[in-house]
Amino acid sequence: MAPYLVLARKYRSATFEEVVGQEHVAATLVNAIKTGRVAHGFLFTGTRGVGKTTMARILAKALNCLSVDAPTPEPCNTCDACVAIARGDDIDVVEIDGASNRGIDEIRELRSNAIYRPARCRFKIYYIDEVHMLTKEAFNALLKTLEEPPAHVKFIFSTTEVHRVPATIVSRCQRFDFRNIPTRLIAEHLGKICQAEEVEVCDEALFRIARAAAGSMRDGLSLLDQLLAAGGGKVTEADVIRILGTPSDEATAGIVSAIAAGDPGAALSGLDELLGSGVTLESALAAVGEMFRHMMLIQACGPDSHLVELPDSQRQRAVELAGKFSLPALVQAVSLCQVTARNLRGLTSGRGLAEAALVRLAAAEKFVDARSLLARLEALEGSAPAPRAASAGRPGIPAGTAANYRRPTTRGQKKKIAPPHPPAAPSAGAGPVPPSGAANSLPARADSTSPPPRPPEPEPLRDPKWDGEYLKANWPAVVAELARRRQGYVAGLLGPAVVLGLEGQTLRLGYDEAHETIRRRCEERMDGEITTVLGQLFGQEVRCQYVPTGRAGKAPAPRQPTQSARLSSAQRDEVANDPAVRAVMDYFQGSLFDVRLAGPPKAEENDAEEHDS
Ligand SMILES: [Zn+2]
Repeated sequence: MAPYLVLARKYRSATFEEVVGQEHVAATLVNAIKTGRVAHGFLFTGTRGVGKTTMARILAKALNCLSVDAPTPEPCNTCDACVAIARGDDIDVVEIDGASNRGIDEIRELRSNAIYRPARCRFKIYYIDEVHMLTKEAFNALLKTLEEPPAHVKFIFSTTEVHRVPATIVSRCQRFDFRNIPTRLIAEHLGKICQAEEVEVCDEALFRIARAAAGSMRDGLSLLDQLLAAGGGKVTEADVIRILGTPSDEATAGIVSAIAAGDPGAALSGLDELLGSGVTLESALAAVGEMFRHMMLIQACGPDSHLVELPDSQRQRAVELAGKFSLPALVQAVSLCQVTARNLRGLTSGRGLAEAALVRLAAAEKFVDARSLLARLEALEGSAPAPRAASAGRPGIPAGTAANYRRPTTRGQKKKIAPPHPPAAPSAGAGPVPPSGAANSLPARADSTSPPPRPPEPEPLRDPKWDGEYLKANWPAVVAELARRRQGYVAGLLGPAVVLGLEGQTLRLGYDEAHETIRRRCEERMDGEITTVLGQLFGQEVRCQYVPTGRAGKAPAPRQPTQSARLSSAQRDEVANDPAVRAVMDYFQGSLFDVRLAGPPKAEENDAEEHDS
């Protein structure tokens, strides 16, 4: 029985056409040989296992094949020279490992031998692998030969770290950058080899091996060797999962689904199960990150893009999951997974870090920009026939996701796990000054410790009066009533306002500088909706003016304490516990310190935080 030859050697490509994934290199070399313009120095760069040594041997065969009397792009692979070169022990083709022969003496020896003509071939070829390992003196010695090489000498250098090769060497060589081999090509190649070996391996298993190989064909072949050695002529995806210690796609998809549902608890349970089954933290996080990456690619390039390197069954699932996220959310998720993976390196126990990443992904929901949040708030209330934010109809932002916020379970888990958001002081001093006494008495986020029992529907506001003094004194209650009537979006717009007065039918509402965005939104886009909603509440025609009042704490500020002070604590609780108000607070990760609701400016703040951290 022949000794077992590892697949990487048994199936090493023998011709330029066979080399997988480096067609650009092969084509250039073939062309050079055909036109007789063969350089005397070549530099092959690229990560390990992408075909540098294979290509060097093919080039050596092409230059030295004995079956023809000149260099040929199609070496015979059967003559003595071709066979010996393929084995790596030809007398005229010297392979040197730069890592172990890195000194000046070795290079001097090389130089003194180089002057002799080749024994039987056209060229004496020196192939120095990992050339960046040579010492400075050795490079200098090599440079002299490289500057004026004998006509019968060719150099092929390869390196995984081209930046460590002196520029003087690089500039004297024809440089070829080898690419990482796409997963799909590795999988296809492995499939062919399995056929030749008469081994049954399913597509999912092949893809999984190819993905683990991360662009290196040699790594892929080594993994396949390992699997063939373990299994009896048949390899299943489960075998691959076991040997690689990577999570199954079901498990990974489970975690991603939990994140999509805004359920940090389920995401953490999923991670815990994975770790319990022997998957390493790094693999688990890498798998989640990889799935987010594919989902991002699906959204950015379409589900059929060649960039999405998944077998069909997994592609379908990734497409479904991708539909639950917006593109910005996926971008954030990919980046967070990568940053976390990087931070995990060198930690003895980084579980907390990985968990924090998952919780952040799940709790931060979709990381959407303020406009899409507004759009979703509209969806939340089922109101707002008014002009929608431009992003409302954008694919990838499911309209129904806002419903998540109403689920008590999600809310409860979120509070238990998510670090309490700092009570969102409105834009660090620029916002309205919270009325003294009122701020602290209000339940900040109502449930920062444990969720209080949700009261039944709050009492409706009795006899709302279309009267200046009444409105000034009871504005928060009016806003709360709007929220109770499922006009949470309008309530969110009117919450930050202060009633300046009523002139005929015209209600003058003041917005301080911090709420200028909202004021303009009211004035420019939402006026029709606001007047309609208020008109229904007060039973008469209503007009509104949205007046900028400048810096917070100026003109209308003295009124605020009065207004808030007149609110009974029961009224405040009513506002705080209103489903719509709570939804708004959740949306913006904000807290309620006044009856004026958290609004879009706060969300922008949160956005900024996301980008900073
Ligand atoms: Zn030959």
